[in-house]
Amino acid sequence: MVAGHMTTSSLIALGRHYWLPVYKPHELILDHGCGARLWDSDGRDYIDFGAGIAVNALGYQDTDLMEALAGQAEKLWHVSNVFYTEPPLRLAEELVHASGFAERVFLCNSGTEANEAAIKLVRKWATMRQRAPEQRTIITFKGSFHGRTLASLTATAQPCYQEGYEPLPEGFRYLDFNDMEALENAFADDDIAAVMLEPVQGEGGVVPATTAFLQRARALCDAHGALLVLDEIQCGMGRTGTLLACAHDQVRPDILTLAKALGCGFPIGAMLAGPKVAEVMRYGDHGSTFGGNPMAAAVARVALRKLSSPQVRTNVERRSKELCNGLLAIKQQLHVFDEVRGRGLMIGAVLDVPYKAKVGELLDRAAAHGLLLLQAGSDVLRFVPPLTISEQEMMEGLRRLHAALASFVL
Ligand SMILES: *Cc1c(COP(=O)(O)O)cnc(C)c1O
Repeated sequence: MVAGHMTTSSLIALGRHYWLPVYKPHELILDHGCGARLWDSDGRDYIDFGAGIAVNALGYQDTDLMEALAGQAEKLWHVSNVFYTEPPLRLAEELVHASGFAERVFLCNSGTEANEAAIKLVRKWATMRQRAPEQRTIITFKGSFHGRTLASLTATAQPCYQEGYEPLPEGFRYLDFNDMEALENAFADDDIAAVMLEPVQGEGGVVPATTAFLQRARALCDAHGALLVLDEIQCGMGRTGTLLACAHDQVRPDILTLAKALGCGFPIGAMLAGPKVAEVMRYGDHGSTFGGNPMAAAVARVALRKLSSPQVRTNVERRSKELCNGLLAIKQQLHVFDEVRGRGLMIGAVLDVPYKAKVGELLDRAAAHGLLLLQAGSDVLRFVPPLTISEQEMMEGLRRLHAALASFVL
């Protein structure tokens, strides 16, 4: 079969030859999708449990998203922030209201940019409070992932992402995730400007923060005049069953970042600023050429409305039960998983010791059985399907997973 007039293998050869080899994609060319299903250029279909890395929360070919994008494409693509357009103005208002804590929004184009904005806002806030540069430490946690630009990369407390990029920016300190005592001790130093964390760590292995830990972080920040920054780039936008994951824990951040599912596949990020920091940044303090782009904002408005709906929330609850029950059944039958954890439709299955070194092979095997899956960390299978996935698609995906794992002989 052909894709355009080139074969699958000759297209893949282009990637091998011309791309900076920083990725290792599966050997297939995806062509189109519908619901939670994708088709490759050879006509094979896949159930998608990865959703473009937790991005395509409304699945493929959502008619409302398509209408919003096409409608805006016919009117206006881009004007820059030297002028106003309607979609980003309305989106900012809607995000503020939906968040329950924010007063202002900065729009950008990706997760790492949203986190850069958050880090800069923390620093600017600390500067305004006359704190010396050594008094502006941001605490982050082992296993975290905050992005790939230099400050976000430094916030990302995993050496494998940082090695070779030194010198890294100063002002970060790393603690063990969910370690309350370590967090309390860190505040003894009195140089802490912020604590930054994912309510559910994504790339690090799908590890939820305990409610007690999040609440303790909030209380410590309040007691010591520090800011709480939540990175909900992966766990936000309905993925855990509530629009924001921190709603589970009744914790309100000072700054919150969003991206991934905010545009449901169209690039956009946002930093939301609460009352303590909403008035810190002034004219000229930060910016982005594409940030607030009307195409992205038009799509994100629809994504926000639909991902906040009771229908999506109910679907996440139901499908989450089916997914977890299915994974626990597989655990019982095949003894491949150690533990199944996570929230809503952000679920991780920790591989048993003999399988730990084989995640890559397992993902390839799943793809060969018509199932697209992600890993998290080095030993966790990550399940982040579209939040609109149907019962039938979920069951078919679980069947394919069972078949793939059962065929995998160590
Ligand atoms: C994906 C991710 C990022 C980085 O987002 P990019 O759009 O890739 O820059 C940051 N934080 C978390 C929690 C993420 O999952």
